[in-house]
Amino acid sequence: MSDITGKTLLTCLLGSPVSHSLSPAMQNMAFSETGLDYRYLAFDVKKEEIEDAVRAIRLFHIRGANLTMPLKNAVLPYLDELSRVSKLSLSVNTIINDNGRLTGTTTDGKGFTGSLLFKGFDIRGKRALILGAGGAASSVIAEMAEEGAESIFVFQRKSATFEKAEALSERVNELTDCKCAVFDLSDGRLLSEKTSECDILINATNVGMGDDKHSLVKKEDIREDLFCADLIYSPEETTFLREARERGARVMNGKLMLLFQGAESFYLWTGKRMPVDIIRERLFED
Ligand code: NAP
Repeated sequence: MSDITGKTLLTCLLGSPVSHSLSPAMQNMAFSETGLDYRYLAFDVKKEEIEDAVRAIRLFHIRGANLTMPLKNAVLPYLDELSRVSKLSLSVNTIINDNGRLTGTTTDGKGFTGSLLFKGFDIRGKRALILGAGGAASSVIAEMAEEGAESIFVFQRKSATFEKAEALSERVNELTDCKCAVFDLSDGRLLSEKTSECDILINATNVGMGDDKHSLVKKEDIREDLFCADLIYSPEETTFLREARERGARVMNGKLMLLFQGAESFYLWTGKRMPVDIIRERLFED
């Protein structure tokens, strides 16, 4: 890696907690591989500190930032401009600083559709069913709608998130050509019915994460021609993905999404493509 100089540009991750994040390793490896005079650091920033953190981005001419929990939504009022997909999803995971003018966007959704394309699945004209409507799901829904998905069925349990999902669905229907509708996740019969109408089924909930062996999908509802994606990357194979694989469906976990969302942020800051194959081999062993 090149030496740090007086001209080295700083990029960073803001959020809390951040110490477990793979992003610093991924971005610094990419800067090193491309010979760019950039560095990436992680800063632990709480929700109530976000205004100060954004001020610091301007003050120290930080070229760009990624945002993670709990800041993706909290940062919205402090930015100068939002991308279309952030206006739709009300979520920002990337800030680009152009001489003090801060633009917010989210690359989570593009990371997801990019990883689908990598696996040979083009979302254009497809019918998607997504479980969950939290932060990551919102970006994925907005991006799929922007990229030309035909329709999106969102299944969300009845909680405060349900109303947010309905509002997102309204924005999608108003601002894109995609048809979006929200349903109660507890209606198992409807979930089975809508699954039978879809090309792709996505788990964007926390169900299946860590030691959780549950799946929200009935194994018998999974068809061979259904693409099954889980945003979870730990464990690498959730019960949902294992059952989908056993049913002969194509499957994808969240590791590639993590890589491709980072690659998109890298491009927005540097104008250069991240060498994703090298990073994937070294960091994700895929
Ligand atoms: P979030 O904002 O907290 O949203 C979580 C979603 O899961 C909400 O819809 C939540 O519903 C739902 N949920 C949680 N527990 C549930 C349960 N027991 N039954 C039904 N629904 C449940 O979290 P997030 O940031 O969107 O993350 C969601 C998942 O995506 C996590 O597993 C995370 O690791 C993964 N993720 C992956 C990437 C990647 O790059 N691969 C990026 C971001 C996130 P309520 O709101 O009602 O609780």
